Amino acid sequence: MNSKLQHDLDNFENILEKTKQQGIDFLNNLETIPTSNKNVIDPKRDLNELGLGSEEALSEFKERLAPLLVSSPGPRYWGFVTGGSTPASIVGDWLASVYDQNTQSVTSQGGNSALIEFETINLLLQLLELPDSFLGGFVTGATMSNFTSLAVARQWFGKQFGKDFAKNGISETINILTATPHSSSVKSLSMLGIGSQNYTVVKTIEGNREALDIADLEEKIKALNGKPFILISSAGTVNTADFDDFEAIAELKEKYNFWWHIDGAFGGFAAVSEKYKHYVKGWEGADSITIDCHKWLNVPYESAFYLVKKEHVNLQIETFQNSNAPYLGNPLENFNYLNVVPENSRRLRALPVWFSLVAYGKEGFCDIIEKSILLALHFANALVDEGRFELLAPIRLNNVCFTLKGDENQEKVTAFLTELNDTGKVFMTPTVYQNKKGIRASFVNWRTNEGDIRIVIKEMKTILENL
Ligand SMILES: *Cc1c(COP(=O)(O)O)cnc(C)c1O
Repeated sequence: MNSKLQHDLDNFENILEKTKQQGIDFLNNLETIPTSNKNVIDPKRDLNELGLGSEEALSEFKERLAPLLVSSPGPRYWGFVTGGSTPASIVGDWLASVYDQNTQSVTSQGGNSALIEFETINLLLQLLELPDSFLGGFVTGATMSNFTSLAVARQWFGKQFGKDFAKNGISETINILTATPHSSSVKSLSMLGIGSQNYTVVKTIEGNREALDIADLEEKIKALNGKPFILISSAGTVNTADFDDFEAIAELKEKYNFWWHIDGAFGGFAAVSEKYKHYVKGWEGADSITIDCHKWLNVPYESAFYLVKKEHVNLQIETFQNSNAPYLGNPLENFNYLNVVPENSRRLRALPVWFSLVAYGKEGFCDIIEKSILLALHFANALVDEGRFELLAPIRLNNVCFTLKGDENQEKVTAFLTELNDTGKVFMTPTVYQNKKGIRASFVNWRTNEGDIRIVIKEMKTILENL
């Protein structure tokens, strides 16, 4: 064994102790570490001939690399709907690296770690009050979850014409209907060979809404003259957290032949709260659902899951199976994740989620979700009270979409946001909503409190004075 490796092995406990200290120093200072910085390095570092060993590498990380990193798990990182990491989720994430399983099969030479994934998906179904008619699995993010779900939908579409698109390629025009798809669904259409422009836009409900207009949807369905289609619907659009009417869509599903997908990357968590679960009423009728865990579940990146109805498992295997050998027997008995998801090798991504759910239970997450929504309302009220901001949409959930008041100030929005983000006290995302330049603040992090809102409003006022 190489001497540096041998040295590391002999000192592993000590090295991990120092690593823990590095991590704790970061986490204990999240409040004061900036949410943005202008630090840079010259990334052309020479590769060592002789290694330095982990301790020296850790020192170099601390000096050169750590200053590049921002407080994204902190309480005032409000961009991109980014969650933080709870203690339990970090425990699970660390152990996922330590145990380093290749999570594929349920019963075989490969180990049984997929049972942990099954159990975790089952806990998530309980959290979201969804029936166990869904099968699920972990992927890196909602983008891959949308991709996985829409890939099965594509196979379903081919089957309606007696065709196997997975084997023979796409040979029919695939009809997609959607109103306000997330950019990652559009990207998935591109990756799936359907085409990122090949979808029909359904009107949204009038009056500052992003949800599907059901009457227009039905008209567009009728225009298809009985042809099958795929519906991409939303449980929480990013700008205004709007929800499609799932009970109405479920009724349409009785009359028409379509695959129903729901992107509920963050909005799906409305199901956890008695106060907000009405938003997702009827969603259990969907064929597939996308949910992110690195957003409102507050586990480290990369973590999301897909849910696809069990009745479609053969379509899913046709889409993703890893060999051309026909699948023998009951697919659920010989289950192997490598036949139902894009990746073959996968880490034990379920573990951070398992730890989180076991550690904090339904009440812990209900509390995070309801508190985030209250904070969004609180921030929106503070913006309105300030007088120089206007909300671009009502607060339905945890996102606040706003801008500078007055059309004459539209040209100042970008400069305002840049200056605000440059303070390092808070981070928000630019957006465009109804042809207006806007700013989006998302409340998802379990650490955020009212004091953070006071800090941010104060910074915003100072910047306005000098704009
Ligand atoms: C964040 C988000 C996505 C993409 O998720 P990633 O985890 O970044 O891949 C998709 N849909 C919605 C509604 C989102 O909010």
